[in-house]
Amino acid sequence: MKQEFAVIGLGRFGGSICQELSREGMQVLAIDNDEEKVNEFKNIASHAVIADSTDEAALKEIGIKNIDHVIVAIGENIQASILTAVILTDLDIKRITVKAQNDYHEKILNKIGIDEVVHPERDMGKRIAHHIFSNNIMDYIELSDDHSIVEVKAGRKMAGKTLVDLDIRANYGCNIVAIRQGEEINVSPRADEVLKDEDILIVIGADKDISRFEKHLVIDN
Ligand code: ATP
Repeated sequence: MKQEFAVIGLGRFGGSICQELSREGMQVLAIDNDEEKVNEFKNIASHAVIADSTDEAALKEIGIKNIDHVIVAIGENIQASILTAVILTDLDIKRITVKAQNDYHEKILNKIGIDEVVHPERDMGKRIAHHIFSNNIMDYIELSDDHSIVEVKAGRKMAGKTLVDLDIRANYGCNIVAIRQGEEINVSPRADEVLKDEDILIVIGADKDISRFEKHLVIDN
């Protein structure tokens, strides 16, 4: 059976999740306590309802228990977000994702047992900061508190060299997992692959190692 989703809070973040899921053909129940927001999503989501998610009875009434994955995207009102998360946990919803507004909010959500806490503003801030840091850093994805994946342009310092020449694993402790050349992705790059200026390397490693790699081979490149 098709998975059913619910998005609580139809601000920019929740609204965008709701739109994408619907575009992919998923069943989405859009929930907000603001009538105007709900009206905006009437033609986008499968169903759109006005409800205050801090009201357990209201959530039960709209059938939240039948939903496989609930995304809580209430931002500013941290209290409402936490209370909603507690209610959803009590109702044994299979999968709950909650957007955290700040570190304190995230800590509480982790404490009450929410497995998936997302922090889009902070994560996007980090990704953009790395790109600002160097135009050759195309993307930066945090895997854990101390491991990340970066996409970097080979650039001047690496162009013309092979992976053996650079020996990134021995020198920096990170691994090149793939090389993107235009539209093509090479997921098992050969050791004698000669890099071109425009090649994009996808590198995984500990933050401290990635940082050394970036400083030596990517920045001012
Ligand atoms: P974004 O940056 O994604 O726009 P935001 O941080 O501005 O989010 P808010 O505007 O605080 O987030 O909340 C997002 C939505 O959540 C709003 O449309 C708001 O009406 C809705 N919302 C807030 N509290 C509740 C609640 N208790 N029940 C249902 N919806 C709620």
